[in-house]
Amino acid sequence: MTALPDAIENRALQGVLALSWADGSSASWTHAALRAACPCAECRARRRAGLAVEADDGVRIAAIEPVGAYALNLGFTDGHRRGIFPFEMLGEAGREMLHADAAWSRT
Ligand SMILES: [Zn+2]
Repeated sequence: MTALPDAIENRALQGVLALSWADGSSASWTHAALRAACPCAECRARRRAGLAVEADDGVRIAAIEPVGAYALNLGFTDGHRRGIFPFEMLGEAGREMLHADAAWSRT
């Protein structure tokens, strides 16, 4: 299980959320990629039904709330704020998804 990150940096201008851990690992997500990967029950149900989870490139994180020591609750500018994003997902699944995400650019 991935521990609490050392640092969580929201680069609002670029629309990127960057996380880093004490062991030197790190992960970066575009806000749009996070919105598309939202793990809430509603978005999971949409994916199971074969429907896309809409994520406009312009969507941004509007609120970041820690959930205990294991996750972040992210609210987005499209009004969706149900997603509880475990650090494990942000740190491990995140890296794989970013490589597949053409919208991602290294900064
Ligand atoms: Zn969702």
